Amino acid sequence: MSYRLDITFHGPHQQFRYRIEHLLFSVRIGSRDDPMTASLIEGKPIADEIRKELRERIARLKEKGVVPGLAVVLVGEDAASQTYVRMKGKASEELGMYSQTILKPINFPEEELLRLIDGLNADPTVHGILVQLPLPPHIDERKVLVRIDPRKDVDAFHPINVGKILIGDHSGFMPATPYGIQEMLIRSGNPPTGKHVVILGRSNIVGKPLAAMLMQKDERANATVTICHSKTRNLADITRTADILISAMGAGAAFVTADMVKPGVVVIDVGSNRVPDKSSPRGYRLAGDVDFEAVKLKALAITPVPGGVGPMTIVMLMRNTVKAAEMMLEQ
Ligand code: NAP
Repeated sequence: MSYRLDITFHGPHQQFRYRIEHLLFSVRIGSRDDPMTASLIEGKPIADEIRKELRERIARLKEKGVVPGLAVVLVGEDAASQTYVRMKGKASEELGMYSQTILKPINFPEEELLRLIDGLNADPTVHGILVQLPLPPHIDERKVLVRIDPRKDVDAFHPINVGKILIGDHSGFMPATPYGIQEMLIRSGNPPTGKHVVILGRSNIVGKPLAAMLMQKDERANATVTICHSKTRNLADITRTADILISAMGAGAAFVTADMVKPGVVVIDVGSNRVPDKSSPRGYRLAGDVDFEAVKLKALAITPVPGGVGPMTIVMLMRNTVKAAEMMLEQ
């Protein structure tokens, strides 16, 4: 909207005239049919806040002689995995934690990987162990994940930690991406309590643990959760009932269109899709599952891609590692 505002003051000896032109503002409240622009839920400021809290916890641990340590194991040379592993090592070091990155060739035998994990389980300088997925086909992922000591399983893929999430036992860990999403909702002033949360995607990494976390009888949760997947019928009928819509599919950019959401929805877009883009040096750009430009006109709040959930994931992994170190100190 554009306004011109004239203010004239009349005094005995002077006259002031102030003119404010083109005063721009956006209207958030009005008829539900009015277009409105959602507020942005950005990951970086929230992640920065959590990093600040972690620095204080790490300093307290160091006063007691403990430096939280994270070991990351990568088998093979997958380019994306190499980038993730580097980012995790860098994030640990930036927080003043101990970081160990173990790179093994693609033909590294399963037995040797299991022995390597046994060594890390027994290493008192390592509080968190992460084996980067996917693993090469000759290695049984399940065997590897259950070999990690659940007390060091900062990725929270061990069945003991998965079970603890389901029963609401906080002595375990929560996987970094769902954990980050829960923090974003709470810290952005959109707590899930009493809301209908619709999650698109049922993977073990995002959708399933997130559903279990948000349905807990807990002040950080208390949501009514519906989970959808590729065999869900009438998807749009369900998404339109969401107070909070979380999309974790990777089903393609702009898959979730404006007519699939109700006005005032809070949208968390986890999806990461490559869109060809000749102007980018990589030849593509990343986009979420949600048609951001159209949906933001209907939503109350929305996460961008990139810059939304992404920055939260690594910081929540760091938080799990600090928690692991604190728990080991207490034992
Ligand atoms: P995933 O294991 O491939 O699971 C995708 C889920 O979406 C599956 O449950 C699948 O249903 C469902 N799905 C796919 N197409 C669908 C459709 N057309 N309609 C309804 N449901 C559909 O993926 P993921 O590991 O959970 O990751 C999901 C997305 O999040 C990916 O784009 C990934 O890159 C991104 N991600 C981002 C971060 C981050 O930090 N930013 C972290 C993790 C993941 P079925 O079960 O029926 O196959």
